[in-house]
Amino acid sequence: SVDVRDVRRKFGDRVVLDDLSLTIGESEFVVLLGPSGCGKSTLLRLLGGLDRPDAGTVTVPRERAIVFQNDRLLPWQRVLRNVTIGLYEAGADERALAVLDEVGLKDHARAWPKTLSGGEAQRVSLARALVTEPDLVLLDEPFAALDAITRLRMHDLVRELRRKHNAAMLLVTHDVDEAIALADRILVMSDGRIGSSYDVRLDQDERAIGTAREDLRASL
Ligand code: ATP
Ligand code: MG
Repeated sequence: SVDVRDVRRKFGDRVVLDDLSLTIGESEFVVLLGPSGCGKSTLLRLLGGLDRPDAGTVTVPRERAIVFQNDRLLPWQRVLRNVTIGLYEAGADERALAVLDEVGLKDHARAWPKTLSGGEAQRVSLARALVTEPDLVLLDEPFAALDAITRLRMHDLVRELRRKHNAAMLLVTHDVDEAIALADRILVMSDGRIGSSYDVRLDQDERAIGTAREDLRASL
């Protein structure tokens, strides 16, 4: 469903993405790790259509959604309107309420964004991302600003949403445990491209996962 081929992105003289290639299968959950400034958000912006590569090709499904680290909800719109923002057909409110119910916030449909906790605001962001039934969801450190317990609850929620919606997901994080908890496959970026890849779903063996965890910690 996603095919990135030999993509290059420069800012001035700095080559941030250097002939990077990557594929993501239908409803696959890929987690992207890598040091700060290595180009993860740059790659997500390309996949989201918010930026263009200087060279190479980016093939993505038409329906896709991005969730950012900060919620980016519109403060002058209630929660429900924030979720229906990408919907134009009849029945938008019903669909938005159904997705708000999935993230546990149906009761907050009429609330203003500023009255939500950080975790609630990110759940609204997830609802807004999923309401259009995208084939690809891009998640750029969506839980980084949350406390540890809320983050664990969000992991359960993401797993559940993924089962229901069947979208491919690409999550950027700095948290190795989060990566291992959610991913089918973990990719590590270095020198502007994908440096290494770990199949954590196929590798259910505890020792193999332990080794992957140590490798990943060492690479960050
Ligand atoms: P972090 O983990 O800190 O979020 P990142 O891997 O997401 O880092 P990017 O935001 O993709 O990193 O940035 C990669 C590099 O590209 C950085 O050096 C950044 O300064 C540079 N960069 C990104 N966007 C622009 C831009 N619009 N103009 C100039 N430089 C940019
Ligand atoms: Mg980033």
